Amino acid sequence: MNKPKQTIENLIIGSGITGLSCAYHLLNKNSAENFCLIVEKENELGGLARSKIIDGFIFDYSAHLIHTKSRYFSEWLDDNLKEELNLHKRNAWVYSHGVFTKYPFQANLYGLPKNVVKECLLGLLGINGVKNKPAANFEEWCYSKFGPGISKHFMIPYNEKFWNTPARRITLDWIDGFVPQPQVRDIVNGTFEYSDKEYGYNSRFFYPKKHGVDILVKTIAKDLNNIILNKKVIEIDLKEKWVLTLDGEKISYRNLISTVPLIELKSMVLDMDKKISKLFSKLRYISVVNINMGINRNMISDKDWVYFPEDNFLFYRVGFPMNFAPSSTLKGCSSLYIDVSYSKDFPIQSDKGAVIDRVKADLVKVGIIAKDENIAAIDYNDIKYAYILYDRNWVKVRQDILNYLSANSVYSVGRFGGWNYLSMEGCFLEGRKTAEQLIKNEARVS
Ligand SMILES: Cc1cc2nc3c(=O)[nH]c(=O)nc-3n(C[C@H](O)[C@H](O)[C@H](O)COP(=O)(O)OP(=O)(O)OC[C@H]3O[C@@H](n4cnc5c(N)ncnc54)[C@H](O)[C@@H]3O)c2cc1C
Repeated sequence: MNKPKQTIENLIIGSGITGLSCAYHLLNKNSAENFCLIVEKENELGGLARSKIIDGFIFDYSAHLIHTKSRYFSEWLDDNLKEELNLHKRNAWVYSHGVFTKYPFQANLYGLPKNVVKECLLGLLGINGVKNKPAANFEEWCYSKFGPGISKHFMIPYNEKFWNTPARRITLDWIDGFVPQPQVRDIVNGTFEYSDKEYGYNSRFFYPKKHGVDILVKTIAKDLNNIILNKKVIEIDLKEKWVLTLDGEKISYRNLISTVPLIELKSMVLDMDKKISKLFSKLRYISVVNINMGINRNMISDKDWVYFPEDNFLFYRVGFPMNFAPSSTLKGCSSLYIDVSYSKDFPIQSDKGAVIDRVKADLVKVGIIAKDENIAAIDYNDIKYAYILYDRNWVKVRQDILNYLSANSVYSVGRFGGWNYLSMEGCFLEGRKTAEQLIKNEARVS
């Protein structure tokens, strides 16, 4: 093992959006050589927000759409990427009961079989004016907001399929901003005709004109020359404040900013407090197999993406990037992304070929591809950490672990580091917030 060199003031593990944003905002304040360093285990930057080119098609890890809620991120995009981005109005759908209906289901019952519409509306009437006690879990929340019809026909089956968890075990900590909550009058209006009303955080989004989402990563990293790739951290010593990398290097730090999935720190941190160490088994997450395909046929769909709540389809979502990212797809061709979620309790087959065959059969079943479709490109990504699960342990367990780490100068942040449902914008902002906190701490000490 090498002896540690100079102490790094702010050592960042991981070059996803969170790590890069943290370095970017730190560097605005101090450019001294040892002030900030990123170490990344892969041979390229970007984490989940990378893209790749396969047989001429540009694929993300599933599609990564750029949403903006905050003024800061909007202005940053405007200043740094304006010419590169297209703004697109979402055209998303749901496939259930043998028909396509507009997303969100709860605001667009138009087009569903009559008996389903009737059940949804009667269920809605049943809850109108009834004052229930506050919902204790996602299942109760769905019933109290939408009634039994909409709950049974979409909200519960879709979410149980996606989260691989019974709806009564899912809490409400994530729903604000993610689950559209139309008014009763909008639900009724959406029963008689297609509604143009926009719902949810991604009703409009940006996507790069000529690149995959990785242009965002490359833009944040443009002026950062303090990144070492192929450098995997395998141990962290909280007392002596160093990390050990797979190639045997010890790096000393003053502050450690970790974007490594929180759950992995259990085996990386040396001599962890026993009480804290026990908490890690309560952190839960779901994984996603994302399959991207290039198809040798023009316009296989005019939709942006479709949700599949029913169990007779393996995937929960299928998207068509050529409709919002035309340059990602070869001329005269189409492209697809297909997402299947799984978990420890509900694993997916380990045989990739079998998963692809099942996905193709389901795509044929719904009429998206033909049985003998000419598939020009295929890409398979098994994303182990995709979404963290919000269950009854989430608030306390996560907070106790994060508090313990920060008391030891380790700031575990980002979507998986902070164990939170963050978008790329959320990660960008969290990187900035962390940088500001570190600068503040430094000012206090000096
Ligand atoms: C299927 C899917 C679709 C999504 N779609 C969207 C979307 O449309 N829009 C959107 O805004 N967001 C989307 N997201 C979320 C988005 O991908 C994340 O919020 C964001 O990319 C997370 O960034 P991060 O830096 O926190 O984590 P990561 O991207 O996971 O970065 C962590 C980095 O740490 C590195 N690392 C891990 N362990 C070590 C180690 N031991 N040593 C060194 N390096 C290490 C990793 O290699 C990685 O580069 C999606 C996510 C998924 C799973």
